[in-house]
Amino acid sequence: MTKTINVKTRSRTEFIDITSEVKRMVSESGIKSGVCYVYVPHTTAGVTINEGADPAVVKDILSTLNELIPNKNSYLHMEGNSDAHIKTSLMGPSQAIIIEEGKLQLGTWQAIFFCEFDGARSRKVMIKVMGN
Ligand code: ZN
Repeated sequence: MTKTINVKTRSRTEFIDITSEVKRMVSESGIKSGVCYVYVPHTTAGVTINEGADPAVVKDILSTLNELIPNKNSYLHMEGNSDAHIKTSLMGPSQAIIIEEGKLQLGTWQAIFFCEFDGARSRKVMIKVMGN
């Protein structure tokens, strides 16, 4: 079973915590042991797993990405959003999380973040829960 969630972003670059939505899909699936795939079908948005406890962490990740990969005019890609494509490739389009005892095996401080790099837009995240 694959489910799609819609994410509405409000800024050009932004991380949105989608952990609770992914957890809900896992519990609705009834699968006790398996893998949960989280896939973002976009070229200027990705998904990453990192600390969710202190919101300063993802702010630091985002500001560092923006510093390292500025939105400048000298890229070849005519659309003017090459920085967003590059940041997306660094974060990647998917994450796989192990499920045991019906629960995502995220570490204590881990959260799943949708990574917007060319918002604000309406985005999709596909979630597939597979049992053993
Ligand atoms: Zn583009």
